[in-house]
Amino acid sequence: MAYDFDLFVIGAGSGGVRAARIAASLGAKVGIAENLYFGGTCVNVGCVPKKLFVYASEFLEQQEVAKAYGWSQAEPEFNWPTLRDNVKSEVGRLNKIYLSLLNNAGVSIKEGLASFVDEHTVSVAGKNYSAEKILIATGGWPKRPSFSGAEHVLTSNELFSMPALPKRVLVQGGGYIAVEFAGIFNGLGVDTELCYRGPMFLRGFDEEIRTFVAEQLSNKGIELKFNCDIKSIVKADDGTFVVEFNNGESSSYDAVVSAIGRSAKTDALALEKAGVELDKRGFIAVDEHFQTSSKSVYAVGDVIGRVQLTPVALAEGMALAKYWYAGEPLTVDYGNIATAVFCQPNIATVGLTEEQAREQGKSFDVYASNFKPMKHTVSGLDERMLMKLIVDKDTDLILGAHVVGEASGEMVQSVAVAMKAGATKSHFDQTIGIHPTAAEELVTMREARA
Ligand code: FAD
Ligand code: NDP
Repeated sequence: MAYDFDLFVIGAGSGGVRAARIAASLGAKVGIAENLYFGGTCVNVGCVPKKLFVYASEFLEQQEVAKAYGWSQAEPEFNWPTLRDNVKSEVGRLNKIYLSLLNNAGVSIKEGLASFVDEHTVSVAGKNYSAEKILIATGGWPKRPSFSGAEHVLTSNELFSMPALPKRVLVQGGGYIAVEFAGIFNGLGVDTELCYRGPMFLRGFDEEIRTFVAEQLSNKGIELKFNCDIKSIVKADDGTFVVEFNNGESSSYDAVVSAIGRSAKTDALALEKAGVELDKRGFIAVDEHFQTSSKSVYAVGDVIGRVQLTPVALAEGMALAKYWYAGEPLTVDYGNIATAVFCQPNIATVGLTEEQAREQGKSFDVYASNFKPMKHTVSGLDERMLMKLIVDKDTDLILGAHVVGEASGEMVQSVAVAMKAGATKSHFDQTIGIHPTAAEELVTMREARA
């Protein structure tokens, strides 16, 4: 049977654009549908504007640091619309780049919400398109809480376009987004509180790293409320939001942000028409070939809920396109994926935590260093750095690396390469450091913790 396309991709985000471009460059006839923004979450309401906001949030503290280094200046003033609008125009520039990348690759672009007609047909803006294969790359969407007054919360989707910066904010959640945005607000001078339902946020990270980060964030002025969640929100006559917590306390804020995870964006797809099933968590169920329960329909990226990170969506989209149209083996290596949380100071991590190494029955040593970075010996700022290597006692292999400190993501990316190459602790020991850097500490830790 002749189809309109070899491949039709739903969603022009990280995974979808990469799969469409590679497939088209390998000779496939490709169509793509997008209803909101080219580049998807990462470019529009995720990694990119978030990181630009993180940069913005670091200048106020830098001004304090600068004073100790002899600089004096007038009291700094922050203008929210300038930041918001400059970031918006950068995002607009990137949207156009994504669009032209698709156009230049020869991908046929269909703007509108896509939904299935059957397992080989998709409808976009009232027109039907048939394809031999259909790839779902529709990403995720912020979950909304269900307490009374939940309609008042902002999610990450709205934070990038707020009309004004709140003076006092509460952030609900203890994952990447909550911790990063608490850091952003606090750095911009907003009176910031974070409430997390459990005893310690950043579940899944190394325990010692979590505790250390909690101390660092508190030192920077973020009020952390653990074992504490929102019970209800009432909007007061003066426009503020009165939050009642489940521990009986209450307080009022100019804005309440909820960051309690993201679910698969499948609502408009009419998956049942193509026979595509979800897994127990509500993500699209796929096998090792990213094939759904429907033979002609595949899915990659956040919508399958494996690892919700841009480089993972890119890797999945690329691997699948090369497997289909270049005959390459389908391999996505999910081992030792490095990741960073862009709070202040940053957290970067790769490989096993101490707890995971223990659970896996490994015999291991821990090398750790907790020190004041050189910059702050003069700045007087109460900021410390923590580095931790988990080393297999039997093989000497580096099992995990965890760093909290300025630019730790830049450091740990290279450690991840070393780990892929099978680096051992003795390789680290043999490596001469770059002096004076914080990173040299990674190759000079000699004494395993008792
Ligand atoms: P998306 O990028 O979400 O793309 C899906 C696209 O599909 C969207 O453009 C959407 O509009 C479109 N779509 C959905 N349904 C339809 C439909 N029915 N018809 C047509 N189009 C449709 N990851 C990192 O690695 N580093 C970070 O620093 C980072 N920061 C983040 C910060 C925030 C605030 C958030 C929310 C996420 C962050 N992420 C980060 C995660 C990252 O953004 C995602 O993992 C990544 O975007 C997933 O790519 P994707 O292709 O699966 O989906
Ligand atoms: P996360 O899954 O990281 O964290 C969700 C947080 O909300 C957890 O602390 C969780 O608690 C808590 N939570 C979940 N449900 C509820 C509830 N009903 N009530 C109260 N609290 C709740 O999600 P995020 O939204 O922070 O981010 C989504 C994903 O996006 C991340 O997991 C990450 O993959 C990606 N991302 C990556 C970034 C990066 O690479 N720098 C930055 C931002 C996002 P508990 O732990 O107890 O379950």
